[in-house]
Amino acid sequence: MIHTPLTPPLSPLFDDSLGIHGKLQAMPVGRGFQGNGLPLNIEYATRRIERFALQEMARSILREMIERNGKMTYVHQVRNCLRAKITKKKGVTLFYNVEREQANFGNLQRCYSVWNCPICSMTITEGRRSELKQGLANWIDAGGHAYLVTFTNSHHKGDNLGDLLQGQKKAFVKFWEKRKVKEMLKRLGYQGRIVATEVTWGQDNGWHPHYHMIFFFDHEINSQGIQSYLALEWQDACIKAGLKAPDLIHGVDVRNGTRAAEYVSKWGLEEEVTKGHLKKGLNGSLTPFDLLRGASTNNHFKTLFKQFADVFKGKQQLVWSKGLKDLLGIKQVTDEELIEETEKTSIEIRELGDLIWQLILKYEKRAHVLQLVEQDYQNGTNTLYDFIDGLAQLHAGEMIRNSNA
Ligand SMILES: [Zn+2]
Repeated sequence: MIHTPLTPPLSPLFDDSLGIHGKLQAMPVGRGFQGNGLPLNIEYATRRIERFALQEMARSILREMIERNGKMTYVHQVRNCLRAKITKKKGVTLFYNVEREQANFGNLQRCYSVWNCPICSMTITEGRRSELKQGLANWIDAGGHAYLVTFTNSHHKGDNLGDLLQGQKKAFVKFWEKRKVKEMLKRLGYQGRIVATEVTWGQDNGWHPHYHMIFFFDHEINSQGIQSYLALEWQDACIKAGLKAPDLIHGVDVRNGTRAAEYVSKWGLEEEVTKGHLKKGLNGSLTPFDLLRGASTNNHFKTLFKQFADVFKGKQQLVWSKGLKDLLGIKQVTDEELIEETEKTSIEIRELGDLIWQLILKYEKRAHVLQLVEQDYQNGTNTLYDFIDGLAQLHAGEMIRNSNA
């Protein structure tokens, strides 16, 4: 055994531009979770811890690499999301958004995946939810009507998810090509649709990809009547596409969403459409994020989540038909813009040295660091320094133990 006294690698930490060493003296010691100023939003902080933990789980499942332009890179960018820097020369930056009272990181890559990243998807779906809510309100205020139309087809345990989606895509091409469908919708004053793709998984029937659509009409229609009509045409399209035929009761479901604007928001039409894959599934059917939540104790869930991530990679979650955004008074915003919006309106708190960032990643403390930035900003404290000092000591202790082993 080697008993050389080890100098803990503290000096790079304390000599960097943070000036941690000087500030350590003035720091309050042993502060609790909330400090003594504004109470921290515990619920928000807890949900954020969960999102970061789920992202760790997603990246532990999605490890695959491929060669791109002669370089090996990850198939799923969630591996690097909020971990790898954008500009090598700069450190990771801590920001605080005064308006939202939330901290966030800068100079870090994002994956912009609405499907497999619990952090990016939160921001994107929230942005999509609010634009949809605004669009629906505009449409209803102008005297229009909207209906939630859900399309499903029969499936069984063991059906391949990729094949099911491929078959449904084919069925929709056949469905929308139908002269009868086009003519009927035109007669009813149909103006466009939003299509949301969603999938759940159940023990009994396996993968269940389905589609929530919002149909926009310029006047009220009979939802029962249109349901029966569409169900027949959808059944026919599924058979022509080689899919198992849906029955006439379950294949298409039409719900009226426009009695009043408040009814829409109470019903949560926009939640249903934009956040389907995040919410907790009902009656034993699991959403992809349910699978991720259960993956730490269930290897089969890991396999399923990977299947889902591979098949859904690159797919659009929400598709508005041509011209509908203009009609509803909604401007075009990309997923990237929705995420970057947060950073634009934030103030820079400070930059972290690379070694500190490596420690934060090593101990999986990203959510905790954001929480401390918020707490420090709101309370005028310096708990972040305490915390980083603690991480450095933990790391040094581990190094000593390893070198003695
Ligand atoms: Zn991400």
